[in-house]
Amino acid sequence: MSNKSRAKAVADVAEIRPPLSAKPAPAGFEDFGSDVFAGAVLRDFLTPSTCESLEATVKSGAPLDPAIANDVAAAMKSWALSRGATHYTHWFLPLTGSTAEKHDAFLETDNDHAISAFSGKNLVLGEPDASSFPSGGIRSTFEARGYTAWDPTSPAFIKRHGNGATLCIPTAFCAYTGEALDKKTPLLRSVQALSAATRRLMRCFGLPGDEKVTVTMGPEQEYFLIDRHFYVLRPDLLQTGRTVYGAPPAKHQQLEDHYFGTIKARVLNFMTEVERELWRLGIPAKTRHNEVAPAQFELAPIYEDLNLACDHNMLVMEVLRQAAERNGLVCLLHEKPFAGVNGSGKHNNWSVCYGKTNLLNPGKDPRENAIFLTVLAGIIRAIDAHADLLRATVAGAGNDHRLGANEAPPAVISIYVGDQLAQVIDQLVSGEGGDTPRAGVMRIGVDTLPPLPRDATDRNRTSPFAFTGNKFEFRAPGSSQNCAGPNTVLNTIIADSFDYLASALEPAVGTPDFPSALQALLQKEIKAHRRIIFNGDGYNAEWLAEAARRGLPNAATTMDALAAIKGPENIALFEKYHVYSGRELASRYEVASEEYHTRIRIEGEIALELARTMVEPATRREYLKAVAAPTDGDPGAVAIRDYAATIGDHLAALHAKAAALETALQGKHEEILAAMADIRQTVDALERLLPDWAWPLPKYREMLFIY
Ligand code: ADP
Ligand code: MG
Repeated sequence: MSNKSRAKAVADVAEIRPPLSAKPAPAGFEDFGSDVFAGAVLRDFLTPSTCESLEATVKSGAPLDPAIANDVAAAMKSWALSRGATHYTHWFLPLTGSTAEKHDAFLETDNDHAISAFSGKNLVLGEPDASSFPSGGIRSTFEARGYTAWDPTSPAFIKRHGNGATLCIPTAFCAYTGEALDKKTPLLRSVQALSAATRRLMRCFGLPGDEKVTVTMGPEQEYFLIDRHFYVLRPDLLQTGRTVYGAPPAKHQQLEDHYFGTIKARVLNFMTEVERELWRLGIPAKTRHNEVAPAQFELAPIYEDLNLACDHNMLVMEVLRQAAERNGLVCLLHEKPFAGVNGSGKHNNWSVCYGKTNLLNPGKDPRENAIFLTVLAGIIRAIDAHADLLRATVAGAGNDHRLGANEAPPAVISIYVGDQLAQVIDQLVSGEGGDTPRAGVMRIGVDTLPPLPRDATDRNRTSPFAFTGNKFEFRAPGSSQNCAGPNTVLNTIIADSFDYLASALEPAVGTPDFPSALQALLQKEIKAHRRIIFNGDGYNAEWLAEAARRGLPNAATTMDALAAIKGPENIALFEKYHVYSGRELASRYEVASEEYHTRIRIEGEIALELARTMVEPATRREYLKAVAAPTDGDPGAVAIRDYAATIGDHLAALHAKAAALETALQGKHEEILAAMADIRQTVDALERLLPDWAWPLPKYREMLFIY
């Protein structure tokens, strides 16, 4: 009987004592990157010239010399074997949003002898049978072959399991037509687009224009941990990653006593295990803390090159899940596992460097400031012009529960710049001409910015896109998302904006008019796009009204948001920068929309199943017991009669709502969602009514507080 299972789960979890080791293991820093084929190990395993050639590709983005593939493959194999790997795999990021791998042993046979083999061709190109990955119509099953192509800019690494290890080679995944079937390919293309546009813009300022452009990214990853004993008793968590039922407990996050609180020993043991593994993989996990909701935590790495940071975040999610399992826990990466407490996001910290200079760092001298303000204006313009696209990148069934629920930024995209930068922007636009110095007017290329604070006081958690001193923090992405999608769009729209500014400036480059031309341009652009700047409280309902007055788009749900991908001007933008072809973009829309509908349907099915096979039987039993109880003359009889009547009403409602949900499951997603919300009210009310021992599903207070 389920209620017994639940009681046993509570008792079992109560027995768990985190191991206390008197002698902690060494820090593990010396193992940093030891399972990554990069850095010093390249010099140990490669000839100097091959090493130089490979490093040139990695560091400066030079095209890969095909002649070195065999040498690199041989070195990689020797290294991987020396690290205990028996297999290799092309590791890629299909449109499912997760990672994919198909392993091959290094094994070949030669006259009944096993030998190890791995060629340049094995390294550079793979042909997984890709027919079962979503392609959104790009590739039908009869032309199923796709190929994976080595991405030398993200180093190969070794994944370990209990009794073995596998060499993982990050790859791009494409159809034979060259069309992208993954998330990495468009990301790499978008970095190229932004690099070219940034160089062009920098040339306007008299810089040589040949420095390497690096897009940097640091994703803050939020997640929940619950004990596995409870997890296996919640079919909804097992199947959908979220609870479709569950009454919020009396105490959840009201006291705000979890955020930054002391981390429990069991969780700390888990975190330590995660970090050591991440360090071994060269992933610079840096920060760990309790988050706002009970049982919610965060991990943040030091930022890295964008492509690598995206791959690393995929690995972070995998390591979190696997380490949780080893520790008798389950890591929930869903955006909203529990109603009534905060969901999980992934703050996407983004910046762009030209050479060694972070272009979002306000500089020390007037020229640096001119560049900073130009870059800032370009970003403001990009976000305002393409807020719809940015919103589309974070659309999904999970995130719909979060955005706009006063725990994450609203679905309206806006930019927070902070008071001081807002003042600078005011001063910039307040003068008309560039060469009429007046008080309160900032003259570009002449004046110096006041120092802008980087401290935590100047923060606004309610803004979707916030300037935080030397980077922008996009706070809307969901916790389970692949970072590649949002960053592909960010890079592309900003590239377009930088190109636009460069086109406007180029005629004045090298002439004495440059400063005033720049001043006039930035004034014009900021005036045109400053409606996107909002420094107030994004959770306030008044902001939504104000945003509507400003004409900012507000796509409240996934399907509204995804529509942006189909906009002709948006398709043209991605085609212009060769980031997505029209067909690739259409396929992304198909995949996202299909995934959304499928997820909603699965949630609906599981909600129906739980209602019929767990909640209704428990309710029926209680009801039958109550109606069979003695009635007349007994002082308790009135209470029992009342109870029976109340339960009876709920039972009838539950029965009817289950039938309604069953009907809704034949219809559209809106109908399923409405029927699920409706039946949830009854189920959650019953959870508060039935005897605690009769309730078949682990309760929120157990899952969120007993671990
Ligand atoms: P915050 O500014 O949010 O308090 P941190 O300085 O700890 O916090 O940064 C949060 C995340 O932003 C970290 O992953 C950090 O590495 C990343 N970050 C910092 N600077 C940059 C940058 N220039 N580009 C991209 N990410 C950055
Ligand atoms: Mg955070």
